[in-house]
Amino acid sequence: MKKYFSMPYEEVLNEFNVTSEGLSEKQLKDNLDKYGLNQLTEKKKQTVLQVFLSQFKDLLVLILIAAAVISAITGSLESTIVIIAVIVLNALLGTVQHFKAEQSLDSLKALSSPCAKVYRNGHKVEIPSKELVPGDILILEAGDMISADGRIIQNFSLQVNESSLTGESESVDKIVDIIEKEEIALGDQKNMVFSGSLVTYGRALVVVTGTGMNTEIGKIANLMEETQEKQTPLQVSLDDFSKKLAIGIFIVCILVFGLSLYRGTNLLDSLMFAVALAVAAIPEALSSIVTIVLALGTQKMAKENAIVKKLRAVEGLGSVSVICSDKTGTLTQNKMTVKKIYFDNKLVDGEECDLNDEVAKYLVNASILCNDSTSKDGVEIGDPTEVALVNLGHKLSIEELDLRKTYGRLGEIPFDSDRKLMSTLHNFDNKYLMFTKGAFDVLLDRIVKIKTSSGVRDITYEDKQNIINTNKQLSQSGLRVLAFAYKEFETADNALTLEHENGYTFLGLISMIDPPREESAEAVRDCITAGIKPVMITGDHKITASAIAKQIGILQDGDRAVEGVELEKMTDDELRENVEHISVYARVSPEHKIRIVRAWQERDEIVAMTGDGVNDAPALKQADIGIAMGITGTEVSKDAASVILTDDNFATIVKSVANGRNIYKNIKNSIKFLLSGNASGILSVLYASIMALPMPFHAVHLLFINLLTDSLPAIAIGMEKPQKDLLKDKPRGRNSSILSKDLIAEIALEGLVISIFTLAAFYMGLKVNDAVGSTMAFATLCLARLFHGFNCRGDKSIFSIGLFSNRYSWMAFGVGLLLLNAVLFLPFMQSLFEVSVLTGSQVGYIYLFAFLPTVIIQVVKVIRDLVSSNKSSKENIVEEKNDISKVA
Ligand code: ATP
Repeated sequence: MKKYFSMPYEEVLNEFNVTSEGLSEKQLKDNLDKYGLNQLTEKKKQTVLQVFLSQFKDLLVLILIAAAVISAITGSLESTIVIIAVIVLNALLGTVQHFKAEQSLDSLKALSSPCAKVYRNGHKVEIPSKELVPGDILILEAGDMISADGRIIQNFSLQVNESSLTGESESVDKIVDIIEKEEIALGDQKNMVFSGSLVTYGRALVVVTGTGMNTEIGKIANLMEETQEKQTPLQVSLDDFSKKLAIGIFIVCILVFGLSLYRGTNLLDSLMFAVALAVAAIPEALSSIVTIVLALGTQKMAKENAIVKKLRAVEGLGSVSVICSDKTGTLTQNKMTVKKIYFDNKLVDGEECDLNDEVAKYLVNASILCNDSTSKDGVEIGDPTEVALVNLGHKLSIEELDLRKTYGRLGEIPFDSDRKLMSTLHNFDNKYLMFTKGAFDVLLDRIVKIKTSSGVRDITYEDKQNIINTNKQLSQSGLRVLAFAYKEFETADNALTLEHENGYTFLGLISMIDPPREESAEAVRDCITAGIKPVMITGDHKITASAIAKQIGILQDGDRAVEGVELEKMTDDELRENVEHISVYARVSPEHKIRIVRAWQERDEIVAMTGDGVNDAPALKQADIGIAMGITGTEVSKDAASVILTDDNFATIVKSVANGRNIYKNIKNSIKFLLSGNASGILSVLYASIMALPMPFHAVHLLFINLLTDSLPAIAIGMEKPQKDLLKDKPRGRNSSILSKDLIAEIALEGLVISIFTLAAFYMGLKVNDAVGSTMAFATLCLARLFHGFNCRGDKSIFSIGLFSNRYSWMAFGVGLLLLNAVLFLPFMQSLFEVSVLTGSQVGYIYLFAFLPTVIIQVVKVIRDLVSSNKSSKENIVEEKNDISKVA
């Protein structure tokens, strides 16, 4: 590989036959053909066979294999075939599901894949990073993730964190100059940048020298490690539950086996009894259904503009109790338009500004020169605050590119949200002037002079008061105010440093409107009803932030707005005490965000935090749910977040929380459905064993129900749409378990009701013979569980949920019914599933006994609905009376 660090950058440009204008269409195509896409070769994925075989590691499968062996020994060959078929089918389903999940994760990853800004054909364009080719002119800015290796050709204070390559956690200052050495370590190649590192500060232009596997990181990580998706907390706790259940069942099975032997039942029959019990109890479909519901949920959320990068975030979203959101662009539209301009003690409309006025000319020119954005034919590139200034220039007939060509940039100190200033140096009006724009309060203290129509003079107390009052007046109506100043230099030789940002001459203020998003106010209301505290955290001025927060309902009577400096004075304990009453944090720096998140977390709240800047990454990681902005966010913030909003919209966060809650609720209902069904099977088998009755079900019957007829309704429950009152409940606590005592009680009770009717059918059949008894018990249990699918769609009665509002649940019921009737009536299936031929009245009784548990459960729900609606209407009356008496 060439040593680009020891070549002058011009030579590197020649090498790739490119100028700083970028590659032409033709070169681009040639280079793409020659070097291919900018991608690392991924680790080899597991083969289909490997995945298929790994399905047999399960404890359940071992039990099933034991059941198949025992069936074979007892001479029930059909059972053996069915069980083996089930094992294979189950493994096949597992394999398909594995690849589906992988596919959907891949497509989510593709949605959140990084972008790069480049010059091509003289134009600045944004492209997916994988389309970078050697020779491309890459634009790097703070917050960017570098995705190719390159030689720096222009540098403005670029600092890069290369820890992923060198292990060095401090950022490195970069340079343009050639390094005349033969061999140097990567960390010392200061005129180069490397793929996989992060821009922490500054700006630079780079010519790409290596992409894909030809980068330094490509050489090290010859095969990139695929990061394995960790199990979500819910999956872990369910796995844990399944394991404990399996052990418990094993013990009970041994007891049942012993009891049967003691009663004199022969060995093999006793064994079959124990196996049937084990098969009845183990929730075979549980973990795959949870994964399917989570995966379907993330797909739905992606369609609704929230890309959930990790499955575990779905559950976290549902329990969020505090949302800390940026203002600009998330709660507001980020469509900035300049309104009033203040200079020389005059406040005028931006468009009416007269550039013949010397002060106005300086101010407007400064706003376009100290600015990196462009706006052409409706295509706006750059920070919306800066675009607004460029657009103002257009209205006043100034073309930004022409102006920037005339007064080239001789130096700069880029904007960063800690310092809240940006400065650039130009030869303007035959003088070397550094223009600075930034936060009003940061700049005001550094001003010593003022430019007026009658020349430059020392700034007076009165001037400052006028400026302060104007800022207040503009901010109070929610306008964002930027201050502008300049400083004169003797020469342009020395590089600009932070120490130069002092001793300014004031030019003026430019205010711009950034209206709240239309949907913000409603989303904030939804949050509050849902028991979620919305908090605004912004770099903007306190008065502007408070005005917007009031408009959308975040700042209410009794709430406080606090500035970054006040926050610094508070101890962690004080912050924790007060955090509940602070709704707006203004003029904060990214590191304040971490303290705010921690303060809430110490109060056991679950915090979602938005962020877009390079310095937001630690806060995004600290938050329970880190949310990055898809449109305006830096690559670094997207990398650190667990959710990316493709529309940057606060309302999308609230929608995602609702989706998260709904998914959690649906999973809970699916679990309830599966486990109460299992409970009914277990109770029936246990009863038969204790009462020395023949075995009510064969292992194949239970497998048929657990794996076939139960799975579809469970998925249908998982796809239940959100109910209207979903956002009326308070968030569930950090430590609440999905298998709460109430849920377990309901599972046991509903299981008991179904098993009573199953046993009633069993007794009825036993009067004829054992085979008819077991057929009736099996069919009743199967059908009752299919009906039960409707009961588990929600806590309320099926009539308040809407009998027909979930078509999947009817489809699942229909398929289950079809399968059951096929087993009952098709001779081939009858022998395979060991069922007897039934009479018409027996079938009638099966339908009746299967339907009655649902009738009972629904009647209980209707009564409960009535009681709770009575209670809530009484509470409303009491509240109204209280309100009236307060008014009185
Ligand atoms: P939020 O944190 O809600 O996104 P914000 O955009 O105001 O709000 P920052 O981008 O950190 O937050 O900006 C902080 C302050 O810095 C702004 O209020 C503004 O006064 C100033 N500022 C913003 N953009 C620029 C810029 N490009 N150049 C100079 N100053 C800027």
